[in-house]
Amino acid sequence: MPRLASHSFAVSAGGLRILVDTGNGKQRANPAWHELRTEYPERLAEAGFPPDSVDLVVLTHLHTDHVGRNTREVDGAWVPTFPAARYLTSRVEREFWAGHPMDEPRRQMFRDSVLPIEEHGLLDLVDVAEGGTVIAPGVRLIPTPGHTPGQVAVQLDSGGRSALITGDCVHHPVQVAHPEITSCVDIDPALAERTRRALLAGLAGSPTLVLGSHFPAPTVGHVLADGAGLRFG
Ligand SMILES: [Zn+2]
Repeated sequence: MPRLASHSFAVSAGGLRILVDTGNGKQRANPAWHELRTEYPERLAEAGFPPDSVDLVVLTHLHTDHVGRNTREVDGAWVPTFPAARYLTSRVEREFWAGHPMDEPRRQMFRDSVLPIEEHGLLDLVDVAEGGTVIAPGVRLIPTPGHTPGQVAVQLDSGGRSALITGDCVHHPVQVAHPEITSCVDIDPALAERTRRALLAGLAGSPTLVLGSHFPAPTVGHVLADGAGLRFG
């Protein structure tokens, strides 16, 4: 059984404080995601990102484990955790879920973590171009459809160096060596595999740091050539 972590990334770029995904800390039917109390706000503040200082929240896709701390409960209402931030996700992603039948756990997630952001007028939908769309200096959204239709990875460029936050295009490092392994929660597994193979081919042997959204430690590494294949290291 592979172990997965659930990461939220804090990035400074062009004077902006940016979060990529917000994890989950709410009550959930799935025990793997239920009340993951990791002192997230406190640790974020310690890292220099107190909630009211955050300028942008990038949501790689609208799944429970990526949007859960978008909001917090105040007097029985869900309010934005990052009130000064614009929240971004891809237009394809939001529009897909608007027309997709949802079970009750997913409706609950939208009610407590997505709809309040829209109701506060804080959610912006990005038309992500095939070659990527820059949303802040050195921060580019890369379309990675398959896991969900509008999912994005996030490429970071600074001072001639680059990094890539995978989102759920790659759930676990084993998929670097075996991109044919799909996740049971991929909406379109065949497309997810094609996207993963293309992304990994572009990273193979490159100095780009790969930040795995669900990679357990070590979360950060490179895609290395390994015989005829690839490995994470
Ligand atoms: Zn995920």
